[in-house]
Amino acid sequence: MKEMRITVIVGQTGTTVPPVTPEAVSFARELETHTGGFVQAIVLGNDVVGFAHHLAETTGVDVTGIESTRLALYNGEVYRDTLIKFLETDGPAVICLPHMAFGFDLAPRLAVALHASCVTAAEAIRFSNGRVGFVRSMFNGKLKAEVTTLREKVVVTLMPGAWSRPARRPGSRKQSVRIVKPDVFPSASQTVGIRESDKDMLNFDDADVIVAAGRGIGNPLNIRLLKDLAAIFSKSGIGASRAVCDLGWLSYRHQIGITGQTVSPRLYIACGISGAMQHLAGMKESRTIVAINNDPHAAIFQVADYGIVENLETFIPILLSEFKRQ
Ligand SMILES: Cc1cc2nc3c(=O)[nH]c(=O)nc-3n(C[C@H](O)[C@H](O)[C@H](O)COP(=O)(O)OP(=O)(O)OC[C@H]3O[C@@H](n4cnc5c(N)ncnc54)[C@H](O)[C@@H]3O)c2cc1C
Repeated sequence: MKEMRITVIVGQTGTTVPPVTPEAVSFARELETHTGGFVQAIVLGNDVVGFAHHLAETTGVDVTGIESTRLALYNGEVYRDTLIKFLETDGPAVICLPHMAFGFDLAPRLAVALHASCVTAAEAIRFSNGRVGFVRSMFNGKLKAEVTTLREKVVVTLMPGAWSRPARRPGSRKQSVRIVKPDVFPSASQTVGIRESDKDMLNFDDADVIVAAGRGIGNPLNIRLLKDLAAIFSKSGIGASRAVCDLGWLSYRHQIGITGQTVSPRLYIACGISGAMQHLAGMKESRTIVAINNDPHAAIFQVADYGIVENLETFIPILLSEFKRQ
């Protein structure tokens, strides 16, 4: 029987490994433990040598770097046509990508080209009777579905934050890094440029701490209070519940939850957030959750590690002045 190839696809962003990559490798390792096979990563870009070595070092997997000037900017057609030559192997294969703009654009393209099944937004894996099931949320998190696939090859996108275990195996063998420079052909469409969005307190991928605003902040002026709290920490961002975005107090790019972003920072401080399940779906994997809410029965306290039952307009200024004093 052919062994299963489990391939993590990484889109290069600068010279650092995107935070979701170790999570994807954790997913791949979990699969490998139960099904056998082997894990590898493929990174695409213009100048991938340093990145590919860094990826191999930090995740402990073999890496193939695919290099071309035509891969410098993400283009779904070019990436698909380049990748399928490396993925068209015999036997079972799982190809995984992050459930982010790059991943959910590329996954269905690859699945069609490879005649593979496609599962999106997987949150967990279940193994029973030799079958692999991918768990995903449905109906805004009200139900969990377990999806099994019929084809030998599967393309799967992974929810950020769902696999948070460190990916590197202690004492694992030295990884191989292979750099290839295939012919890459232009496609019918061309990516002319990528413009970074305004990152004001929005860089959730790098944030160790997220301070999130709920309707309980009362008015948009109190966002200043939350920004002051976030500024205590060097890598921090401002999140929001949907209620706050619907009110126009913060843009939808700050929204955390089932229809917003999924985050898993080291510290999540929920300020005036009730804890609706649509919000919890986007932040419950945070390592430590602190909730400030004046209602002792608020649902957020069920997931919080530390709960502060207090008016946030009273509590946060005291916390800030105490911090300054010390
Ligand atoms: C299809 C669908 C998708 C959705 N997707 C999302 C999503 O992605 N993200 C999301 O967040 N929501 C989402 N929602 C909305 C969600 O159901 C809730 O309505 C929303 O999360 C509530 O936001 P909130 O907690 O800020 O407001 P509220 O539920 O109004 O809670 C405000 C909280 O603030 C507390 N409070 C009030 N005053 C103070 C004070 N002075 N000091 C301290 N605490 C105070 C109150 O006790 C209360 O618990 C979705 C809903 C639907 C139907």
